[in-house]
Amino acid sequence: MLLKKIKSQLSRQKENMLYRKRLVLASPQTTTLTIDNNKLINFASNDYLGLANHPKIIEQMKLGLKKYGVGSGSSHLICGHSEAHETLEREFAQFLGKERALLFSCGFMANIGVLDALLDRGDLLLQDKLNHASLLDGGRLARSKMQRFAHGDLNHLQKLLQTDNQGNKLIASDGVFSMDGDIADIESLNKIAKKTNASLLIDEAHSFGVLGENGRGICYQHQDNPNLMVMATCGKALGTAGAVVAGSKDLIEYLIQKARSYIFTTAIPASIAFASITALKILRNSDHRRQKLTQLIKYLKQGLKSLDFKLLPSDTPIQPILLEDSKLALQISQKLRTFGVLVPAIRPPTVPEGGARLRISLSSDHKISDIDQLLEALKK
Ligand SMILES: *Cc1c(COP(=O)(O)O)cnc(C)c1O
Repeated sequence: MLLKKIKSQLSRQKENMLYRKRLVLASPQTTTLTIDNNKLINFASNDYLGLANHPKIIEQMKLGLKKYGVGSGSSHLICGHSEAHETLEREFAQFLGKERALLFSCGFMANIGVLDALLDRGDLLLQDKLNHASLLDGGRLARSKMQRFAHGDLNHLQKLLQTDNQGNKLIASDGVFSMDGDIADIESLNKIAKKTNASLLIDEAHSFGVLGENGRGICYQHQDNPNLMVMATCGKALGTAGAVVAGSKDLIEYLIQKARSYIFTTAIPASIAFASITALKILRNSDHRRQKLTQLIKYLKQGLKSLDFKLLPSDTPIQPILLEDSKLALQISQKLRTFGVLVPAIRPPTVPEGGARLRISLSSDHKISDIDQLLEALKK
């Protein structure tokens, strides 16, 4: 029965060109990857600042391993919460301009944990249509009413907020949309949230480290709103692993009591938190990396414009080429690999039906010659 379903689903995935396979890496996460004995220029990673293989962070991780050992042994609430976890939370809170922060094992768990903990039956959750899967799943878990507004359509959001609702309201949005690369209108979202007494959760997975003063993300300027919560991940620009939710001290205390994906899991290794403290310092002092990234984005966009592709309006390191057809996206991605560049094909359900695309992502470690090679390959 189940096995039959599995078989038929698998063949359907293949027929629809939606079957997924993993690449096996024989190298660290840098701008060149070794895959199947081939060297490929990496335009697939979220390691925007090149910190995933930074020597100082590696050294710090080694020190952390010496100091705290390998495993955390327990959940945070039993005996797995080390001084490294504690310090990282404090530094994150300060950096993001919030009273406190709470460290989760990853962004997916942070999002589902927060939404499930905060919302009850009778509450209303409003989400941008293109929000990350973890926010949508958090909404399903929460059992509150969930409605999705058209992508970036704040009139639609306001209309949905007018519906008669006795419970609490929460608006959730990606900061930078992970498959489109556009930036949420945080000014307006914050205004709408304040006007309607709604809480606001911004997922800064792709904006933290990249946007805002010293990479503090897009929410840092809006410290006047105590109902604004930030989720920032450590696995992308920061180059390590984990995620924090930052907000008021009451919010964090509440999450410690109630967020099930925080409570019922083993703490991430203290060495990762220890390394993340150093990574955060480096990220803060990475204006030169952010400037370089901005230049590379400009250079890539100019080059892409001269080719005949359908682009999306993005000023971030995420630069999609819209192809619509999954088969075409896959074929081009495979062809690009033969020219030595890795650009992933993104297909449904990661993007909407008919929204298949190539997703180019840049790192500040890319060289102009890397981008030239990508453009040359795309032209061919
Ligand atoms: C990657 C991502 C997450 C999940 O973060 P992880 O730490 O990788 O689990 C959440 N939201 C968005 C928008 C993301 O891109």
